[in-house]
Amino acid sequence: MSDVSKRKLDAFPVFLKVAGRVVAIVGSGDEALAKARLLGESSARLRLIAEAPEHELRQWARDNGAELLETSYAPHLIEGAAMVFAATGEQALDCRVIADARNLKIPSNAVDRPDICDFYTPALVNRAPVAIAIGTEGAGPVLAQMIRARIDRMLAPSLGALAALANSYRTAAEKLLPKGSARRRFWREFFAGAPARAMEVGHISEARRAATRLLRNEGRTAGHVALVGAGPGAEDLLTLRAHRLLMEADVIVHDALVPDAVVAMGRRDAERIPAGKRKGAHSMTQDEINRLLVSLGREGRRVVRLKSGDPLVFGRAGEEMAALREAGISYEIVPGVTAAFAAAADLELPLTLRGVASSLVFTTGHDLRGGTLPDWARLAVGGATVAVYMGRSVAAEISARLMEAGLSPQTPVALVENAGMANRRLLAGALSELARVESRDDLTGPVLTLIGDAVAAANLENAEPLATALAAQAA
Ligand code: SAH
Repeated sequence: MSDVSKRKLDAFPVFLKVAGRVVAIVGSGDEALAKARLLGESSARLRLIAEAPEHELRQWARDNGAELLETSYAPHLIEGAAMVFAATGEQALDCRVIADARNLKIPSNAVDRPDICDFYTPALVNRAPVAIAIGTEGAGPVLAQMIRARIDRMLAPSLGALAALANSYRTAAEKLLPKGSARRRFWREFFAGAPARAMEVGHISEARRAATRLLRNEGRTAGHVALVGAGPGAEDLLTLRAHRLLMEADVIVHDALVPDAVVAMGRRDAERIPAGKRKGAHSMTQDEINRLLVSLGREGRRVVRLKSGDPLVFGRAGEEMAALREAGISYEIVPGVTAAFAAAADLELPLTLRGVASSLVFTTGHDLRGGTLPDWARLAVGGATVAVYMGRSVAAEISARLMEAGLSPQTPVALVENAGMANRRLLAGALSELARVESRDDLTGPVLTLIGDAVAAANLENAEPLATALAAQAA
């Protein structure tokens, strides 16, 4: 072990009780206001001692019910306070305030003068009664703010309300549930299961009902399945909600298109079940997947069904929802970034473009095989941008039929393999050349095809030409 890990804290974090107590802040300007705002997150009685308060400070005091003493500082003004902040901006005065506080045995802090502070103020994530305080002993205030922002995003805004509700169940849980696994199970379900879900959408009475139900069943639940969009494959294109659910899941059932790195974002001890579904290598039929989700739900497990892109776009989520509904298992849908959006972003391609394309078609192209031309072909002729999923094996068909329907052979097309990922590849050309991708076995990743006049507005600087790429391959 290196010394890096052996460092000890020179300042130890504690939570000081301030409810109803006076906290004094000395100063008239921005720094005093910043401290007032921070302390205003607590239920302390704020006393602002400002000889010449700036307008904003006076306004803040009025809006937040803080006591404002417009007078020059004197030691008796801080007597009895739980904490004192010196934020006058004048070194001599700050030092006097700190010296007086020390005489009165009141812990004190001077803004930007760490050497004379008794304590530092943290960056704060407030989900009262839950608080997360981040300190760097003054070494990195910017770092502390960055960490704060990250933690803030991770925690549901409703967490505080949920924790407050937990308080009202504590006595009942201790009385009704034996100490040990039943009680632990109850609280785990309370904070991650049905009560938490109800609270997240603001249904407080439903949260209470769910908690009561949970108490009666000693923490055993009917299970829950979240159909979660994983996005196109890059870990940071997951939504915050998807990430949170992944970290709470007991079981993750994932498609082959979802990369390992994303599946790995779940809890370490979560069970992971690959549901396969890669072209040519079905490891489970859709029926088997439906049955699996239902039986996991019946076991009371928290399941994340992880699908690439958005779960409602060519994801067969309809069948999974129907099976869950029929079995009476609760479920929810978490949207994701669909492949077409990731591909458009990679190509810097405006999917809708004033005067050029005002509609967008998501299709598979597999319906082109029949005798009649599907409606979307007409939309394409009318100027829609067409996003083709699973289109590689039917590229020739798509190209031929669209030209037959009246789309110009010169219509621009662009393809992205592994859209949204570091190893993405861009290809561009004309509709008449699209057929050529069918015979290319160097395209091994998923491919999204975009067709339409809007494609001409894309940034194709890094795109390989469809035609010459083929010529090179043939040579
Ligand atoms: N639900 C997914 C689509 C699943 S169908 C979504 O919303 O994106 C599978 C098809 O999606 C693939 O054949 C391919 O056409 C497309 N696809 C998925 N991920 C992709 C990616 N990273 N790059 C390009 N295309 C992708």
